[in-house]
Formats: sequence, C-alpha cells, structure tokens
Amino acid sequence: MAEVLVYVDHVDGAVRKPTLELLTLARRLGEPVAVALGAGAENTASALAEHGAVKVLTHDAPEYADYLVVPKVDALQAAYEQVSPAAVLVPSSAEGKEIAARLAVRIGSGIITDAVDLEAGDEGPVATQSAFAASFTTKSRVSKGTPVITVKPNSAAVEAAPAAGAVEALNVSFSDKATGTKVTGRTPRESTGRPELTEAAIVVSGGRGVNGAENFAIIEALADSLGAAVGASRAAVDAGWYPHTNQVGQTGKSVSPQLYIASGISGAIQHRAGMQTSKTIVAINKDSEAPIFDLVDYGVVGDLFDVVPQLTEEVKTRKG
Ligand SMILES: Cc1cc2nc3c(=O)[nH]c(=O)nc-3n(C[C@H](O)[C@H](O)[C@H](O)COP(=O)(O)OP(=O)(O)OC[C@H]3O[C@@H](n4cnc5c(N)ncnc54)[C@H](O)[C@@H]3O)c2cc1C
Repeated sequence: MAEVLVYVDHVDGAVRKPTLELLTLARRLGEPVAVALGAGAENTASALAEHGAVKVLTHDAPEYADYLVVPKVDALQAAYEQVSPAAVLVPSSAEGKEIAARLAVRIGSGIITDAVDLEAGDEGPVATQSAFAASFTTKSRVSKGTPVITVKPNSAAVEAAPAAGAVEALNVSFSDKATGTKVTGRTPRESTGRPELTEAAIVVSGGRGVNGAENFAIIEALADSLGAAVGASRAAVDAGWYPHTNQVGQTGKSVSPQLYIASGISGAIQHRAGMQTSKTIVAINKDSEAPIFDLVDYGVVGDLFDVVPQLTEEVKTRKG
C-alpha cells in the first residue's frame, strides 16, 4: 500500500489535534508515515501510533528552534526522498503552509492549500476546498508530481486506529540556506488557561454588540463556566476589544466545535465562513432579524448584557 507522509505539529512531544485529524485523512489515501521534528519528537510516537501512523520518522537538532522554517523543509524533503510517498499532508497553519510550499517548489510538485476534505481518486488524492466564504466548494487534484496538500483544522474527526508507529531516526543534512534566518528572541504568549480556539469543543464568541473591551469579561465568564475558548468577530477585533488571534471567520480562524455561542454578532457571510460547520449553534442578539438566526439551532432574542450573565449563572448552578 502507498505511504503518505504526515508532517507533525507538536509542542515538546504533545501532538496537536490538527495532526491527528490529518492521520484520519491520510488513512484514506494509504499508510500514514509521520514526520516529527524538534525537541520531544520521539515522545509523539505513542499518540501517532494510536491514530494510525505505521512509522514515525524523528529528528532533533538545535536548528529547528534556532532558525525559521528551512531546517524543517530540509527534513521533510529528506523524509520525502526516503519514503517516496503518494502524497505529503501538512497542517494548514501559517508555518505549515510555508513548509509545504517550499517543499513543493523543491520537488517540482503541485500544491493544494487549505483543503477541508480529502478522498482517494483514480489519479491521486482529490481535495475539497471551500471558496468565497464557504459559498462554494471546489474539488481538485494535483496533476504534477507528488501532491503536497495542507489541510485546515477541524476538517476531519480524530479517530483512533492503532498501528505499529515504529520510530525511525531520520537522516537529515541541512542545506546552506537552513541557517539563513535566525530566531533572535521569543516572547511567550500569556496563557489564558482556556483551550486553543481551533481545537476547542465549545467556543463562545462576542461581536460588536459587546460594545467595548472591558465588556468581553462577560463573554469570558460564560466561556470559563463551560470550559470553552473565546472567539470574536472581526468588528470586535478591529475595534481593539479582543486580540486578532481570536478572530473567527474568513480572515480569521475556522472553528468547528460541538457548540458555538455567538453573542452580539450579526452573522455576516465572512463570519459564518469560519463557524458554520459547528455542530450546534446558539446566537444571542437583540435584533430578531439578524442573519445569524438563519443558521442557529437555538436563538435568543435579547440583550446580551441580560442574557449572558444569566446563562453563566445557570451553567454554574447546574454544574453544582
Ligand atoms: C474581505 C473581508 C473579510 C472579512 N473577514 C471577517 C472575519 O474573518 N470574521 C468576521 O467576523 N468578519 C469578517 N469580515 C467582516 C464582516 O463583513 C462583518 O463586518 C463583521 O463580521 C461584523 O461583525 P459583528 O457581527 O460583530 O458586527 P455587526 O454586523 O455590527 O453586528 C453586531 C450585532 O450585535 C447585535 N447587538 C448589538 N448590541 C447588542 C446587545 N446589547 N445584545 C445583543 N445583541 C446586540 C446587533 O443587533 C448586531 O446584529 C470581513 C469582511 C471582509 C470584507
């Protein structure tokens, strides 16, 4: 059976959810061979094996932390040359897309970015992409070389499928360009203690209706009562009320949680593009005509400053 390379996104050996989703998709195309680089790479093996990796190619070197993406591209290319895979799958983060694009150029292959689904086809993998704020879906395949495909988070369910996950050391020699761009400093993002937006099972978002940075405290309080991540519309982000990293939508992050609660958000098509695949959608809006109500499972017509605190209290009471 053909092998499919899966580039692993991990933090000190803890595999991030989008990589486990990639393994689900990779199994449709062949046998997943994972490539884990950097500190803790070997510790990824058990999670990757549990989700279907037949092999885990690992390599650690200071270059991965000290320089930007080129050392990682060198390593992924080494894995590509070792395995001769049927496809290379990479998570669609900013870094993942840069690594994938550089690899595709080096190996003379076509690339598809931001796929939301993958299936096996007679002439190679067929990728689904979502276009024009999710108004259209397109299907395409790479017609030149080995398909390199980046896949958006939440595009597939994580499924356990135990496999051997045999760890093999990858032989990597870095190119001259690997040390061209040095990392000169790092500022850790302050941890909120909340789950990562794109991986959270519940997302509570606020929009222009929240009417000020200080009022986001009530959105955060509801999120914390539910163990949820906090999202924001672009209007709220552009107003400086919440960080850009929390923006949900076409030019923000795509989320697909079990539960999405939108407060004071009108439901513009660009916002919907980032959340409409959520399993259950709840909206709180004082305008009964707001377009968000067209796609909700439960809608509350009311002032969010009345409704959200009551909801938070009720959740806390029920949780005891
Ligand atoms: C190229 C492009 C890309 C974009 N990308 C994104 C994106 O990624 N994400 C995104 O979100 N937007 C994006 N936008 C912007 C988008 O078009 C909308 O302008 C934006 O989503 C509106 O945000 P909002 O719903 O918070 O604000 P509004 O549309 O102003 O809606 C505010 C809502 O709050 C309600 N409200 C007000 N006060 C209260 C209250 N007290 N209680 C309850 N409800 C209340 C109002 O009834 C209203 O429905 C993009 C636009 C463009 C052109």
